[in-house]
Amino acid sequence: MNVKDMIRSAEKELRERFQEFEEVAYQNQARVLNAFREFKIRELHFQPSSGYGYSDMGREALENIYARVFGSEDALVRPQIVSGTHAIYSCLKAFLKPGDQLVSATGRPYDTLANVISSGSPESLTGAGVDYCEMPLGQGGYPDVEALEGALRENTKMVFIQRSRGYQARPAVPLAMIESIVKKVKLYNRDIIIMVDNCYGEFTSLNEPVGLGVDIMAGSLIKNPGGGLAPNGGYVCGRSELVQKAAWQITAPGLGKELGSIPFDKRYIFMGLFMAPHVVLQSLKGAVLLAYLFEKQGFAVAPLWNDPRSDIVQSIRLKDAEQVRRFCQLVQRYSPIDSDAALEYGELPGYMDGVVMAAGTFIQGSSIELSCDAPLREPYCAFWQGGLTYEHCRYVCERLVEEFMLTS
Ligand SMILES: *Cc1c(COP(=O)(O)O)cnc(C)c1O
Repeated sequence: MNVKDMIRSAEKELRERFQEFEEVAYQNQARVLNAFREFKIRELHFQPSSGYGYSDMGREALENIYARVFGSEDALVRPQIVSGTHAIYSCLKAFLKPGDQLVSATGRPYDTLANVISSGSPESLTGAGVDYCEMPLGQGGYPDVEALEGALRENTKMVFIQRSRGYQARPAVPLAMIESIVKKVKLYNRDIIIMVDNCYGEFTSLNEPVGLGVDIMAGSLIKNPGGGLAPNGGYVCGRSELVQKAAWQITAPGLGKELGSIPFDKRYIFMGLFMAPHVVLQSLKGAVLLAYLFEKQGFAVAPLWNDPRSDIVQSIRLKDAEQVRRFCQLVQRYSPIDSDAALEYGELPGYMDGVVMAAGTFIQGSSIELSCDAPLREPYCAFWQGGLTYEHCRYVCERLVEEFMLTS
């Protein structure tokens, strides 16, 4: 069978899967649209603000929309948040004091966060006297909810859940499981703050963690909720009191959410959120097509094409670091930007191992645009995510079949 036929026949098999994703995107789109209507968004909300940014109507409306769409009391959505790591760190730093215990329910956190929590330096949370407990993953790579209960103590202040697989060989955490963690933890002590790293999870389901009893969640605007249009930034959503405390970390105690001008046109942050359900749909369709093609050819892929999804990441297990690099190189070659860049493993701030990253993206490092990356460690997997259009994903899949799969 030639490549084009392979892809057409894959798409026939994937019809129902695609329809499932389309239904989710449709309902999420309606929710986003109705939030825009509720807050009566107009051209004037896009205006840049200056100086302290007091009473920036556009910023306030944007945060109201985020809160409504994600089902939380309040939200902080700012270009001053430099990345997802910064958004999450601001929360951890805001709520954890020396002597408090932080429990990670999902094993080792994402590389840049593991660094923030327990790198050993005095600036890390453990260096500053926070107790830290990392629960090993249980059956099937899911959080071990029973064992988690046993780890809770009098000084447990916070339970941390990373929704997406990150660079791990484990599934994304389903929302139902997040809900059952919430129930167990709140039964033990309702004051324990439950936080979700929601990176890559937004709009993959009909609900978001804060809509299910999670106290606070955070993520990046150059991933799902920015829709590929937001030029930078991060968000925090959750209970008002907690969002305010996180804002104190980003500005200063006593200042908080009331300050922070956005001295550029906010149109693309709004428009990106409006587009996000659709762009996430494109990514999910692309990820499932890639999974299907490689799975049929005998590669170990995760998730499988028909597995439930709670993030947009698709991992493909490969033989060695060089194969991973070659795979990423092809994704780079068929990107709109920097298509001629030669990829190598390199050092990035916050990452402990070398990383190779295909990010031929309009917005630097944006991973809601089609991108593919991997840390230099076993098991050697390429992590594919994003895609502004399904057609781009499809084209790159075709190229990968021809130039990688059939020659490896
Ligand atoms: C991307 C990501 C982060 C944050 O990464 P930044 O590059 O700092 O935005 C955190 N956790 C997970 C699971 C991620 O995928």
